[in-house]
Amino acid sequence: MSLHPFVHTILEWYPRHKRDLPWRNTKDPYIIWLSEIILQQTRVAQGLPYFLKFVENYPNVESLANAPSEDVMRLWQGLGYYSRARNLHECAKMVFNQYGGVFPDNYKDLLKLKGIGSYTAAAIASFAFEEAVAVVDGNVFRVLSRYFGVATDIASPAGKKEFEKLANELIPHDFAGTFNQAIMEFGALQCVPKSPDCTICPLREGCFAHNKKIVAELPLKIKKLKIKERYFKYTYITCGDYIVVKKRGEGDIWQGLFDFPMTEVSEKSKLIDLLPDFVESLKKIETLNVENSSYTYKHILTHQRIFANFVKFVIDPSEIDRLAEWTRLFEFQIVERERFEDLGKPRLILKYLNDEK
Ligand code: SF4
Repeated sequence: MSLHPFVHTILEWYPRHKRDLPWRNTKDPYIIWLSEIILQQTRVAQGLPYFLKFVENYPNVESLANAPSEDVMRLWQGLGYYSRARNLHECAKMVFNQYGGVFPDNYKDLLKLKGIGSYTAAAIASFAFEEAVAVVDGNVFRVLSRYFGVATDIASPAGKKEFEKLANELIPHDFAGTFNQAIMEFGALQCVPKSPDCTICPLREGCFAHNKKIVAELPLKIKKLKIKERYFKYTYITCGDYIVVKKRGEGDIWQGLFDFPMTEVSEKSKLIDLLPDFVESLKKIETLNVENSSYTYKHILTHQRIFANFVKFVIDPSEIDRLAEWTRLFEFQIVERERFEDLGKPRLILKYLNDEK
């Protein structure tokens, strides 16, 4: 089978430029797995001493599986993401107890192990067993996106799939492990995220991004919107057939819709016990009942998460005039329940009213 020029160039580049890292010169799945878990979300320079310590203390899966968990955690200390250390230990025990101390030799079975996702399974299967399954990490996304001009968002599931498909089409069956290592190393050393030196790149002639001068624009990663959390304390004031409402103003969510008098607080913990300031003067009006609910509604918008708690005031119907006066003071409105049905309301309010019935 003839190799794609891209694959050919990457395979030629690799032996001349690769870094000499201790996990590169082995086919031992235990060592490869250990290095992959340690290097997740960690730079090589930071992860290398940890890798060496682990290999020294636990040279094989049996020794790691039988180690006390406090020792494993202590050795991991400083590397962060401690769930990885727990999964590492669990996985070693699984391999030792359920697989007789031998790592599965294929992608599908490797995926069944604790803490092993598609990336790590592909790395072990291809590096140790030469299975032709592509490893797709940030470096691979970048190289493929720039060279082939793929402008799909790498943070989206569809983007991930597209890149995986492309990488799996390219992978040479005879050199699967080497190709995976080579493309990752190429991304780490040559096609770096910021200002790669394209003038010395062996791929530059066929490189879409270089030729179109859009290297800085690829790969495309659409940042997720920051979700803001807000805490609303609502007062639901009823008086016979009437309720007190508030039309929402400009410059905020739900503009022009009707909700209830409310106050916004800075912390979720303040929601339950707090009573808005305007309630103070409401106390002068004869109130039949006050129900401060301990239930907090959660309402999700595109870029906001609203937590809302309601306190209900039941005002004596004979007090309708005084209540009307009070609502004018605070620029609230008093409307008949029936009429409120016809007014536009946020779904959160509808939900509350529904539960209220
Ligand atoms: S030419 Fe530049 S952008 Fe293209 S693969 Fe090489 S380093 Fe990356």
